[in-house]
Amino acid sequence: MPEITVVDVERVADDDGKTGRLVHIERPEEWAACPECGVISTSVRQRRTTRPRDLPYGEEPIEVRWHKRQFSCTEQLCPRKAFTESTAEIPPRARTTGRLCRAAAAQVASGRSVAAVGRQYRLSWPLVHRHFAIHADAVLLEPEPPQVLGIDETRRGKPKWFKDPATATWSRSEPFETNFVDLSGSGGLLGQAAGRTGAAVVEWLQARGPQWTAAVQVVAIDPAACYRTAIKHALPHATIVVDHFHLVALANKALTAVRQRVTREERGRRGRSTDPEWANRRRLLRAREHLSQRSFTTMWNALIDHEPSGQILTAWIAKEELRTLLACARTQAPRSVISHRLARFFSWCADSGIPELITLAQTIDAWWPETLAFITSGITNARTEGTNRLIKDAARVAFGFRNLNNQRRRVRLACTHHMINPAA
Ligand SMILES: [Zn+2]
Repeated sequence: MPEITVVDVERVADDDGKTGRLVHIERPEEWAACPECGVISTSVRQRRTTRPRDLPYGEEPIEVRWHKRQFSCTEQLCPRKAFTESTAEIPPRARTTGRLCRAAAAQVASGRSVAAVGRQYRLSWPLVHRHFAIHADAVLLEPEPPQVLGIDETRRGKPKWFKDPATATWSRSEPFETNFVDLSGSGGLLGQAAGRTGAAVVEWLQARGPQWTAAVQVVAIDPAACYRTAIKHALPHATIVVDHFHLVALANKALTAVRQRVTREERGRRGRSTDPEWANRRRLLRAREHLSQRSFTTMWNALIDHEPSGQILTAWIAKEELRTLLACARTQAPRSVISHRLARFFSWCADSGIPELITLAQTIDAWWPETLAFITSGITNARTEGTNRLIKDAARVAFGFRNLNNQRRRVRLACTHHMINPAA
């Protein structure tokens, strides 16, 4: 340690017979400068011993005894009569060395909980957390604007209900959080906003400043109308891309709704494992190319033989038509092929007369500019899903966060850690 010399090391045993080492340290200089006036003093007034805690070293515990000198200030005009020596690593009144605090902060930054690190180094929770916050705030700078911005939501804890004492009405607190992710560069998680409202998105984006928002070219979102409205307002120049994964999920939802309704109408009850449409419910939701020929034939024949209305297979075909349309992104199909496939999907849904499919077609129609932007750019929100996993991991390590700012700092550091420190 700089500015410190070890005077003596003793082997000691505690009451249980466990051995440890007692390290005596002091400053080698027999003088110090007064912190008030800067005049150097050599007049030692008294000596004191403090017990700063330091990093563990080796298998046996280490205790440190610092034999400190208190000097009297010899400058006549100085209001300070006495001062105690200190070093940069052990500042005045510090009970832990700087390197111990830094090591604890680095442990938390690498993903361990504040409580676990505190137990290991025998430090209090607030102390470990304060040093982690200092470390994180130094590392986490204002994020660079990404060319492609991803926006999506994660749930934060369980929903809570509150009763307004004045109006006696109940309201639900928003347990959701909106995440902003860099999809083009290496920025990782750029930030988080409470709730999943358009206002939260607009507020976060506007807080970044006009230069930042001007640099964003494309924004990838889930098909949520509030996000779209917010981006059109805050980033009017940006292209909005809707994530194809969520569009396929909408088609699967429509297909499941049709299957459940058909079962209810034809059997007058909910589905059972003996019903062919129920037995094939997972095959129905699988992508066609991921079904083996045998699986596909089993499903197809079961529905042809046992579902006379044909509505379930009609909905399955609508889902596959939508997937074929979205697959144009992979094959970089020309515009004519895209519009042909879109027309085929729309007419299939319209001709079916099935209400769930008509609603699906209307949703795709309402999101067509954003869907087309996905097909032509191939940009997806898939990377934000990976970030969401890291967000959940960080929350699990901490057993949940009560303080939102603490959570954001931890999560952002967890998501950006490997980019700042590639060795970790
Ligand atoms: Zn002085």
